Amino acid sequence: MIYLNGKFMPIEEACIPVLDRGFIFGDGIYEVIPAYSRKPFRLPKHLNRLQHSLDGIRLKNPFSNDEWKNLLEQVIAKSDAEDQYLYLHITRGVAKRDHAFPVNVPPTVFIMSNPLLPPPAELLASGASAITAIDNRWIRCDVKAISLLPNVLLRQLAVDVHALETILIRDGFLTEGAASNIFVVKNGVLLAPPKSNLMLPGITYDVVLELAAANKIPHEIREITEAEVRTADEILLTSSTKEIMPIASLDNQPVGQGKPGPLFARLHALYQDYKATNMRG
Ligand code: PMP
Repeated sequence: MIYLNGKFMPIEEACIPVLDRGFIFGDGIYEVIPAYSRKPFRLPKHLNRLQHSLDGIRLKNPFSNDEWKNLLEQVIAKSDAEDQYLYLHITRGVAKRDHAFPVNVPPTVFIMSNPLLPPPAELLASGASAITAIDNRWIRCDVKAISLLPNVLLRQLAVDVHALETILIRDGFLTEGAASNIFVVKNGVLLAPPKSNLMLPGITYDVVLELAAANKIPHEIREITEAEVRTADEILLTSSTKEIMPIASLDNQPVGQGKPGPLFARLHALYQDYKATNMRG
């Protein structure tokens, strides 16, 4: 069952008018929240980011955080899987086609849940491959906008060559992946690009940096050059649905030893522990 504008229904019955501004202009934002053992993971952080995205497009939040929590719990309860990811999508509603914001139009609110599967064990063991591309997106990548055409095109470049992800470089510096955040390891130090308008502030990115701090793993938040990405000892990819994954080849060249490295192994184990404690608590 999905949620659409106040009602629960099977997804096959959910319909959006063609004049929805999400369809016409890509005028909306979204959020993706994992739920483990039916409990949303880091919900307050995701709801804060949702608010940031709404503020970024000047759209009023249709619900309070308590109302969101309640709605999400209902969606989770109506789904079969123990581990799920929740997709929330809000657009500026349905109105005659005109770029200017419509007045007094209710937003369209859609929530669906899908089963959340961990990344395949073989890929965690062997490491994934990635390619690089110039980051040609807009300069509000901190807003989780539904207008994802550049991300779609960039990601497809990876799919075309059977790679997992496209790692983006803007003006000679690492920003993020087409649908993930990227960390680099150099000489035992975990390097993370600083949050800015040029990348999505990942919830998993924050977890990884918190785990590094709590476990005395040397880490630095600073600009990372393209050359540093290309000569990295390890490259790690993070997202709510992929957790932490090792990148073992970049543009057909091995990353470090060409297999998952020690910092990946450590952070992946810490992340699994953290998830488990979070679910118990
Ligand atoms: N950057 C982009 C462009 C993304 O699409 C995503 C995941 N949807 C991320 C980063 C990772 O964010 P999170 O850890 O919150 O899933």
